[in-house]
Amino acid sequence: MDVTLEQIGKWEEGSFLYLDTRGEAAYGHGHIDGAACYRKGEEPPPSFSGKKIVAYCTYGEESRKIAEGLQKQGYEAYNLKGGFREWLRQKGTGFSRQELERYDRQMILPQLGTSGQKRLKQSKALIVGAGGLGAPAALYLAGAGIGEIGIVDADAVSLSNLQRQVIHDTDGVGMNKALSAKRRLERLNDQIKVRAYQEFFSPENAEEIVRTYDFVIDASDNFETKFLLNDVCVLQRKAFCHAGILGFQGQAFTYVPGRGPCYRCIFEEIPRGGDVPNCSQVGVIGALAGIVGSVQALEAVKYLAGIGELLTGKLYVLDGLTMQSRIVGIPKKNEACRVCGRAADIRSVSENAAEYRRQPCAL
Ligand SMILES: [Zn+2]
Repeated sequence: MDVTLEQIGKWEEGSFLYLDTRGEAAYGHGHIDGAACYRKGEEPPPSFSGKKIVAYCTYGEESRKIAEGLQKQGYEAYNLKGGFREWLRQKGTGFSRQELERYDRQMILPQLGTSGQKRLKQSKALIVGAGGLGAPAALYLAGAGIGEIGIVDADAVSLSNLQRQVIHDTDGVGMNKALSAKRRLERLNDQIKVRAYQEFFSPENAEEIVRTYDFVIDASDNFETKFLLNDVCVLQRKAFCHAGILGFQGQAFTYVPGRGPCYRCIFEEIPRGGDVPNCSQVGVIGALAGIVGSVQALEAVKYLAGIGELLTGKLYVLDGLTMQSRIVGIPKKNEACRVCGRAADIRSVSENAAEYRRQPCAL
């Protein structure tokens, strides 16, 4: 009943055909070359008559029953030992053996498959800020095999960062954060490229830095950078995921050009004045930064692989004290928005540079 890839390799070419029993979604995201997509209970295609049939599923367990059923109907049917996963390991195209093993647990997901993994490999993501949000986001994106990751941060790692910025370690105290993050990511995954920008994300360099990336993660900790990042992404038509955390509260949303509002549509102006917690002195729980930064990584993976539903036109809000979360719908863009509204007056971030200048911190 069970047959191995090695045994199939000895069969005469054209004497057998593969039957993919994992369902249409999985089939659509990658299958064995020449395999037919098979729905349970239906007859195999007419082209299968007189040929050996090799049924397969993800692991080679569920398809055994289908092969048995086909045998009862008179077909010479077999079950592929180890299933699609084993085939990927041995024959998967476009990936090295190391990559196939490294990404195995996500490539077997029907929503991602080999095609989604290829898209991730060809993608470039930029993370602005290697702090509490940027740390988990960068780790998960590197783990997922995003082909190129850029990290922007001018600050140095301090001991008080380590409570939440899990990408850095005690040995890295005093080192530039972008560099410390790069060092960690390269140890995590040597199959990807990592670029460290050891500078502040500013109106002078933002356009140049963002230009080469497909998706941007706003992991910054101040409103000036958040507005700057929003404006440059909107003007360059780049998708990005915003997130913010304060105490036990976290929020995130994703901007995709032409679909829903931008960050400025929602928050309009950079908050100014003494009451606004805009400095790094406010408290935050590390695990909450971990959750919200991971939400950003998940949004990036979905966008880059072209799967799932994004937080576009939706603000995800989480209260870490009660674990209540909700999604607030903000489906429409704000026509008065200064960067994407009808009478938008921000044409370039360098022209609008004064607005993004940080106010001196009073705390
Ligand atoms: Zn807008």
